[in-house]
Amino acid sequence: MHTERLFDRIDSIQIKGVTKKYGSRFAVKELDMEIHGGELLILIGPSGSGKTTILRMINRMIEQDSGSVIINGLDTRKLDPVRLRRNMGYVIQNIGLFPHMTIGENIGLVPKLEGWEKNRVKERVQYLLDFVSLPTDLFFNRYPRQLSGGQQQRVGLARALAMDPPLLLMDEPFGALDPILRKQLQEEFLKIKMEIGRTIVFVTHDIEEAFRLGDRIAIVDQAKIVQVGPPEELIFNPATKMVSEIVDTERKFKHMDTLNVKDLMSPFDSKYVFDSKMDTCDAVNEMTGRDLETAFIFDNGRLLGRITMVDLMKCRTKTQKLADVVRPLKTFQPLDSVAFALSELKKSGEYLALIMNEDRPSGILVSDEVLLKLI
Ligand code: ADP
Ligand code: MG
Repeated sequence: MHTERLFDRIDSIQIKGVTKKYGSRFAVKELDMEIHGGELLILIGPSGSGKTTILRMINRMIEQDSGSVIINGLDTRKLDPVRLRRNMGYVIQNIGLFPHMTIGENIGLVPKLEGWEKNRVKERVQYLLDFVSLPTDLFFNRYPRQLSGGQQQRVGLARALAMDPPLLLMDEPFGALDPILRKQLQEEFLKIKMEIGRTIVFVTHDIEEAFRLGDRIAIVDQAKIVQVGPPEELIFNPATKMVSEIVDTERKFKHMDTLNVKDLMSPFDSKYVFDSKMDTCDAVNEMTGRDLETAFIFDNGRLLGRITMVDLMKCRTKTQKLADVVRPLKTFQPLDSVAFALSELKKSGEYLALIMNEDRPSGILVSDEVLLKLI
């Protein structure tokens, strides 16, 4: 049986007025939410708040009582559920590998059911094992019980990716792992996330994991989403007390007023310095050579602003100078408070600032890095 792809990429998933009840209790109540194509959206909240139910209504393992889930304009109720699920990867904590099947057979199961040629299935499995850092020679013919928990979790991810799905649904995939292994798999997963560029909905109960992986975080409480936004928004503007408790604002950030930017900035390096009179095409080569995405532009020792590689991509003529394309840059002093700097950055929509000691650059402040150092 061959099933066509329903979508090559996700543009958006709209959840509109979705409700699911068990008896008289709401598991999910009148939920409205949009998932953006290409983002990693975290669902986090207390046990029993409705996270798994939300996830499973997206792939129709659970049918909502009312409301609709619209993917790229298609109402999922109008689609065949099996076909829908084959277009989505689903990863759970105890991944339920089939114990009597080898790792290779487990990963290749759906492609085989889809009628792929034997060799094509084998090649795909080899590729995926490599992708999740399990050497094919060692693992292809093993059985699940011969693998560690972390290795099994990798196999679960490989299996979910078998059909190259544009959407991944992950329900506490690292929840059962010890903290060190969890960190390591998170790091690897971040790389995988960049490589595959997929839309991912990810359930966790671990706020650090949420901050580390999430583009946006949705806080789920009592069958509702109480707030959804990027990490900084939850930290600086928690909608409810419960949100601030989850992000643990007070414990983690009470020191923010006493910390100075010099405590959290990255050291400045002269490789970032470019002269405003350099022409833009030369700057492209120079930045490539120095492995830079951003550079700071000075004119006779005076800071003009910054440029990014993207700003320079359109360089054509030899007449355009860096001074012509420079964009403004926020600067702070080493003794400014971190709280002040982060809120100024947020206001200006910037994520990066230069720390100036008198007239000399002494460090770089990157808002994401600061947040990660604080948690
Ligand atoms: P979470 O994943 O956030 O822990 P769930 O989505 O699994 O929460 O569950 C939400 C609520 O729905 C809980 O109160 C749970 O007890 C209830 N629930 C979930 N599945 C069922 C079911 N099959 N029958 C009855 N109640 C259920
Ligand atoms: Mg759950």
